[in-house]
Amino acid sequence: MKISEILNKNVPTLSFEVFPPKTDVTLAAVMKTTEEVAALRPDFMSVTFGAGGTTGKYTLDISENIQNKFGVPSLAHLTCVCSTAEMINARLASFKAAGIENIMALRGDIPKEITLPREKWAYSHADELIRAIKEYGDFCVGGACYPETHPESQNRREDIANLKKKTEAGCDFLTTQMFFDNNILFNFLYHLREAGVNVPVIAGIMPVTNAVQIRRILQISGTQLPQRFKAILDKFGETPAAMTQAGIAYATDQIIDLYANGVNHVHIYTMNNPAVARKISENLSDIIGRRQL
Ligand code: FAD
Repeated sequence: MKISEILNKNVPTLSFEVFPPKTDVTLAAVMKTTEEVAALRPDFMSVTFGAGGTTGKYTLDISENIQNKFGVPSLAHLTCVCSTAEMINARLASFKAAGIENIMALRGDIPKEITLPREKWAYSHADELIRAIKEYGDFCVGGACYPETHPESQNRREDIANLKKKTEAGCDFLTTQMFFDNNILFNFLYHLREAGVNVPVIAGIMPVTNAVQIRRILQISGTQLPQRFKAILDKFGETPAAMTQAGIAYATDQIIDLYANGVNHVHIYTMNNPAVARKISENLSDIIGRRQL
């Protein structure tokens, strides 16, 4: 099923992201994780794509399994850094052959070690990849957006102007980078609509269970922490069980506030932790309704 159809029903949705393994050694463990997350009956599940295509085969296999074995619509990520048009087309052909209907089209972070000289890259930005995917076949295509502005952009106006190029290229929906202050998202949505970006926006939420990990992610993404969350990290960051409980409670609170204020679509960055995905689902079961846990 196409994700655009799910989003257009205009009822609250909950979806989960998983990431593929780096090697065969951990493939079975990740498959088990995806099975456990799929058992929560999310509206869809996304599978990330390792920088530079290193995990491309796993992204395909896991996405195919989620859809064809567990019966949950899947969203396969695809990046275009270090790729020729032939390489991208080969990926699209394998997605199509596997029955994958939804692709999250990303540029990807520029890797420190470039595996293909830049002049050979077919696409410099996600909008070019989105256009190419739409021309290739009947895929529903998502793009990334950044409520706190992409770190490479000079300012929000420039970032939103670039974002508009994604929707003009045919992007069907957007998923946000994580954020910890809902007012930042509400403000961002206002500016998107003002700029004429009208596709559905899925709010990306990260339940924080590991203080060291989140400090590293924040450094890369430029995401800000509100004082209320900083206090939680300071107080519970050194005690994993307490941090997990507080992180899930904070994320739940954020999600309820989003649904209550008309943001219908929420995507959870699970960090491959099915227990966290389950807790969040349980916390929202009567709010989302219709789920069999
Ligand atoms: P772009 O849209 O190309 O934007 C990158 C920068 O270029 C921005 O500053 C933008 O304003 C600017 N820009 C955009 N278009 C143009 C243009 N036409 N001309 C000039 N400037 C332009 N990374 C992975 O490696 N694998 C994943 O699976 C993955 N999944 C992600 C999922 C989500 C929801 C998000 C938010 C991010 C994800 N990322 C993933 C990270 C992402 O690859 C990085 O944030 C990357 O730096 C930017 O990707 P993009 O698709 O947003 O790039």
